[in-house]
Amino acid sequence: MQFPSHSRAFNELRESMDAYDLTPALQDQFTRCISFHTVTAPGLFIGVFMVDYALELLGARHGEKLYAVAETYKCIPDPVQVIAGCTFGNHRLQVVPIGKFALTMNRPSEKKIVEGVRVYVDADKLKQYRIINAWYTHSTDFDSRTMIYPLIDEILKAGRDILSYQRVDVHVSLKKAWKSVPCSSCGEMVPDIALEGDHCMGCGSMSYYEVVP
Ligand SMILES: [Zn+2]
Repeated sequence: MQFPSHSRAFNELRESMDAYDLTPALQDQFTRCISFHTVTAPGLFIGVFMVDYALELLGARHGEKLYAVAETYKCIPDPVQVIAGCTFGNHRLQVVPIGKFALTMNRPSEKKIVEGVRVYVDADKLKQYRIINAWYTHSTDFDSRTMIYPLIDEILKAGRDILSYQRVDVHVSLKKAWKSVPCSSCGEMVPDIALEGDHCMGCGSMSYYEVVP
């Protein structure tokens, strides 16, 4: 589902952000995240509030090196990358696909455990927001043809009100030593710690293509 990307939509978005007193800095984050995500999905909006909240709870400085775990592939990874600079490419963003709309952020650590903050969508708090609750719970009460604008508006109105947080001890996966070895099947080089027996995962459990003859 996506918010229509015509000018009326953006005008309404801007009006809602102004109406609910979102700071210019946060409005700028929304604009950057929508551009990166390419569509204006409701979950993206919640994700922007989540990342903003997590950074504040951590007391993070602008540009500080942080790590993040998103508990779903949906939407959340994008605001984490855009706002916090934790990307898939720099290995500071991980997705643990539990299927929850939740995000944990922490500072770097040489130890196996590091304190972090976990922000999540709180089902009890959602009950005060009829439209978000209907959309979030995938209820038939939510009609995507008529309720997208009211949904976006309600998400902007709610802001952090639908979120809760907990301080957590995060398990850090420490770097493992590895050496490069050839796969016995395809012959391509692969880290030895990524082998399944004597072949790479591409020739094994993660196979996803056949070479065209
Ligand atoms: Zn292989």
